[in-house]
Amino acid sequence: MPEYKILIVEDEEAISHVIESILSANHYVPLCARSGGQALALANAVQPDLILLDLGLPDMDGVEVLRRLRQWDQIPILVVSARDQEKQKVEALDLGANDYITKPFGSSELLARIRAALRQRVISLSNGAARPQRYAAGGLTVDFDKRLVRVDGRDVHLTQIEYKIVEFLARHPGRVMTYDAIMIHVWGPYLTDDNKILRVNMANIRRKLEKNPAEPQYIQTEMGVGYRMAEEDSLS
Ligand code: CA
Repeated sequence: MPEYKILIVEDEEAISHVIESILSANHYVPLCARSGGQALALANAVQPDLILLDLGLPDMDGVEVLRRLRQWDQIPILVVSARDQEKQKVEALDLGANDYITKPFGSSELLARIRAALRQRVISLSNGAARPQRYAAGGLTVDFDKRLVRVDGRDVHLTQIEYKIVEFLARHPGRVMTYDAIMIHVWGPYLTDDNKILRVNMANIRRKLEKNPAEPQYIQTEMGVGYRMAEEDSLS
């Protein structure tokens, strides 16, 4: 099993220590930075496999740290945010953060998010430039070439817009895609930040895909942030 280096960017020592011991106990190699400046220097020096980035840092806005990291590398970044940092969290995701976790979190939630982000990295490394042709999870398949969506073996008829939404999410399995990112992809740059049209389309998509649209298994809602497609083959 490879030893993954994980850079913890956190100014609160107590929290940093807790995360450090969770990671050590689970065979990761933790490294710690207490500020944005230190994080950028360390990321450059040690090339971590993943970065846990607290958004509230003393010297620099966490979103700014992310912006700079994204200029030169594609290391998975998991944003750690407080409950009142909704806006920064969404901004961080739009800037390319892979996922987020809200304080306070449990160790199993943290480890699950880390595993998912590392898996996405492995998948994107092994695929190289080739784009996958198909998505499959549980009874749902999306064939990107044929633009065909099936559930439990039967064809599902989606409108063009509905298909574009489903395809976009299915091309980023396990990742939360923000309302803005989806809306820009589907409708282009828009003039309103009202995402009602997206929610209406999602309701229709769920009626067509999900056994119980009120308890969706394929597309999860991340309150106030966006939607997340189930990881491939995560549903049995
Ligand atoms: Ca902090």
